[in-house]
Amino acid sequence: MSDILRFAPPTLPPTAEALRREVRDFLAAERAKGTWAPKGDFGTNPDPAFSRKLGERGWIGMTWPRRYGGHERTMLERYVVTEELLVAGAPVTVHWIADRQSGPLILRVGTEEQKLRFLPRIARGEIFFCIGMSEPDSGSDLASIRTRATKVEGGWRIDGRKVWTSNAHLCDYAITLVRTGPPEPDRHSNLSQFILDLRAPGVSIRPIRNLAGNHDFNEMVLDDVFLADDLLIGRPGDGWKQVTSELAYERSGPERFLSTYRLLTALVDRGGAAPDDRVAETTGRLVAHLWTLRGMSLSIAGMLQAGETPNLEAACVKDLGNAFERAIPEVARLVAPRTATVRGANDPFDAILDEAVLNAPSITLRGGTREILRGIIARGLGLR
Ligand SMILES: Cc1cc2nc3c(=O)[nH]c(=O)nc-3n(C[C@H](O)[C@H](O)[C@H](O)COP(=O)(O)OP(=O)(O)OC[C@H]3O[C@@H](n4cnc5c(N)ncnc54)[C@H](O)[C@@H]3O)c2cc1C
Repeated sequence: MSDILRFAPPTLPPTAEALRREVRDFLAAERAKGTWAPKGDFGTNPDPAFSRKLGERGWIGMTWPRRYGGHERTMLERYVVTEELLVAGAPVTVHWIADRQSGPLILRVGTEEQKLRFLPRIARGEIFFCIGMSEPDSGSDLASIRTRATKVEGGWRIDGRKVWTSNAHLCDYAITLVRTGPPEPDRHSNLSQFILDLRAPGVSIRPIRNLAGNHDFNEMVLDDVFLADDLLIGRPGDGWKQVTSELAYERSGPERFLSTYRLLTALVDRGGAAPDDRVAETTGRLVAHLWTLRGMSLSIAGMLQAGETPNLEAACVKDLGNAFERAIPEVARLVAPRTATVRGANDPFDAILDEAVLNAPSITLRGGTREILRGIIARGLGLR
């Protein structure tokens, strides 16, 4: 094992398999009742009622302290739950960001009042969060954001524009990165994070349709929005440090390699008990990659549990995982080509393939592009 890249072999706790069975049974029972239908991508299947059911089971905020509504389980137990939800294609979209990122951020740098105010409701699946970072001219170069907060009596006034804000139209709050002082030679200073109330006067949310024609992300216009002092999260000026400390949570989970998993299983099913050589070789190769990625991702969950911040390892999981997710539709359409005239538009395999093909281009953009991740990996390895 390299000294720089550390991927210790993961070991799931003895409770994991019972928990896995519990999640599978819950999903099967709910499916039988017709309360949910599978979709491939964690970001495209919102269902607030289903999220509340997960909250009731204790599967949101699993690792957080009980006094904040959490369940004091381990990151590895959380891993098992998220993995089962993702491979089933369950509707996890609307609570995903709060569970993965906003909640842990509040837990780490929030005030006691913020923890008591937000975390129990997140864990019950009652309030949902999104991420307001990107702007029309600031994506990869996040430090160039222009949305500005100005200090006023009792709070801050915010003006600016955010884009690609996933599911803002379904959420209650956005963890929003803004400039709280003039740009300085150190471009990372004077940035701060706020818990933006999406129903505050001056917030407008407009849909941006994606390649598939769906409304998943949005433009958010912030026009003289007043936010009270108690909605600043962490210390003013610490925004960059806080954002980068979220990265291991944001980039290492199984959602970074399972977005097209349903297509892989559909491909295996299509091959049947005696697949031809091409299908057998392709699926065998993909499953081997999947197993390795899973081991790396689980290993990071173990490091997070130990209180570490494995950002470099997380960048590797996201880069390799996203490449894997994008490869599945590419190879699937080669070994099992779409022939609508033969199979018809309602062929289930075609429907899953179509969904994966249309979502695939976004996979390597959201949460950090391929080039940005490789830059981080190169720096971490001492190559730049
Ligand atoms: C499905 C989806 C959901 C998203 N959800 C959210 C969200 O909820 N909240 C949010 O804030 N943002 C969200 N985003 C935005 C996402 O974070 C940005 O798209 C991403 O950071 C890239 O920024 P950009 O689109 O401005 O592209 P750019 O930064 O303009 O990049 C364009 C191209 O140039 C390359 N490039 C840029 N800089 C460099 C460099 N220094 N070296 C080499 N190559 C470079 C990039 O890799 C990319 O290929 C989402 C995006 C997608 C696709």
